[in-house]
Amino acid sequence: MFDVIIAGCGPTGAMLAAELRLHDVRVLVLEKETEPVSFVRIVGLHIRSIELMAMRGLLERILERGRQRPAGGFFAAINKPAPEGLDSAYAYLLGIPQPVIVHLLEEHAIELGVQVRRGCAVAGFEQDDEGVTVELADGEQLRSRYLVGCDGGRSTVRKLLGVGFPGEPSRTETLMGEMEVGVPQEEIAAKVTEIGETNKRFWLRPAGVGAYSVVVPAPRVSDRAEPPTLEDFKQQLRTIAGTDFGVHSPRWLSRFGDATRLAERYRVGRVLLAGDAAHIHPPIGGQGLNLGVQDAFNLGWKLAAQIRGWAPETLLDTYQAERHPVAEDVLDNTRAQMELSSAEPGPQAVRRLLTELMDFDEVNRYLIEKITAIGIRYDFGAGPDLLGRRLRDINVKQGHLYGLLHRGRGLLLDRTERLTVGGWSDRVDYLADPTAVLDVPCVLLRPDGHVAWIGDDQHGLDDHLSRWFGKPAN
Ligand SMILES: Cc1cc2nc3c(=O)[nH]c(=O)nc-3n(C[C@H](O)[C@H](O)[C@H](O)COP(=O)(O)OP(=O)(O)OC[C@H]3O[C@@H](n4cnc5c(N)ncnc54)[C@H](O)[C@@H]3O)c2cc1C
Repeated sequence: MFDVIIAGCGPTGAMLAAELRLHDVRVLVLEKETEPVSFVRIVGLHIRSIELMAMRGLLERILERGRQRPAGGFFAAINKPAPEGLDSAYAYLLGIPQPVIVHLLEEHAIELGVQVRRGCAVAGFEQDDEGVTVELADGEQLRSRYLVGCDGGRSTVRKLLGVGFPGEPSRTETLMGEMEVGVPQEEIAAKVTEIGETNKRFWLRPAGVGAYSVVVPAPRVSDRAEPPTLEDFKQQLRTIAGTDFGVHSPRWLSRFGDATRLAERYRVGRVLLAGDAAHIHPPIGGQGLNLGVQDAFNLGWKLAAQIRGWAPETLLDTYQAERHPVAEDVLDNTRAQMELSSAEPGPQAVRRLLTELMDFDEVNRYLIEKITAIGIRYDFGAGPDLLGRRLRDINVKQGHLYGLLHRGRGLLLDRTERLTVGGWSDRVDYLADPTAVLDVPCVLLRPDGHVAWIGDDQHGLDDHLSRWFGKPAN
């Protein structure tokens, strides 16, 4: 009997597993593939995800494997640098391939005691009042108290749950792969520049020793799960560029579409959805992995609280209440970015206008805060602007604020030195006179770094400790 079974060891599943283990939850991750996938899909981690890594002590090892690049130029790839003074200690893009992120997150989860079983596909489940019986493709049955589907856009868990996945189907098809080429680099560069003027979905770029990353539009196929062949790439390259560049020796080949869909519910009883299983959208702006990892960060401590028995009654449902609107917003901004990337004269005119508007600092800042997810404010009710937002990393007496959040617990920053976390001290840490940087007396942080309360009175604090951390221990 496990506490939680997670279907899928992609970035979302691995992050969730690690977050649960911080609270001693018994976690099993079931992954369909026998080996980690090698597809290099992502541009990198945006600011909020980099912050999450810092909050769990993972940043150093991730920085070693990635490249820091300037933030900016994300929205519809409009080439504008980020405005000065973004509200983060980590105001950059961390370029790092998806397989490396997944490897590091899985390694971290295993170090914390997570079991990962590869070559095990979830094929069915049944839930009752006490738990979920999960059936694998080979007929084996396993039992857990909760099941979370982190099994990607074609999620088996979501389909079996019968949760609606409304939205727009894919309108375009794109082939993407890594392979060797048989012509000189200059010849490729000239052709790519020429075609790139009008076709934003075509590129050949060097990708490590001897290989090129190739992206080329393709006709729609009836079965999108069917992997493309090298011949498909050659044919499309000839159609669009007039040459296949002598491509050969592929390392991996894949395809992706631009469907936009959002699950109607993130939870049905003891079964939940996170990451691509809950939402899909075109990759423009590079947000999908970031969004999934942030779902996991929001869900982890809440599900752990439920299992450990201290969760207030409605805590687990705040996962959907907080994360569904965030995904809705990401879907909408990718729809807008796709329109702005169309070669039609109307969208091109709007693009030129937005490019001009982005010279206004506030417009540029608003868009970058959206894409990097540092602008998110959860609805915790009326209060100062900081309430519901995440607090940036700040210097405190003990070093860095985020360094105090590694264990995934709540934290009270108390400048008055009069308050106490009392009966909640098994879940919430206390820091007296933390910093002169804060211009409010006391701040209560949730384990995900969002501001749950601002004030200076014990009564108000106790109310909010109960709201987020349940009943005090005796
Ligand atoms: C071309 C491209 C570029 C992208 N660029 C970016 C980018 O720059 N930035 C960004 O943030 N995002 C980007 N994305 C999106 C990103 O790749 C996804 O959002 C991300 O992989 C979602 O992570 P996930 O863990 O939710 O799902 P996945 O990565 O899909 O992982 C799901 C896992 O579940 C496993 N699984 C499936 N079914 C089962 C089952 N029945 N039982 C057990 N295991 C199962 C799968 O094998 C897989 O390992 C891009 C996507 C594409 C296609």
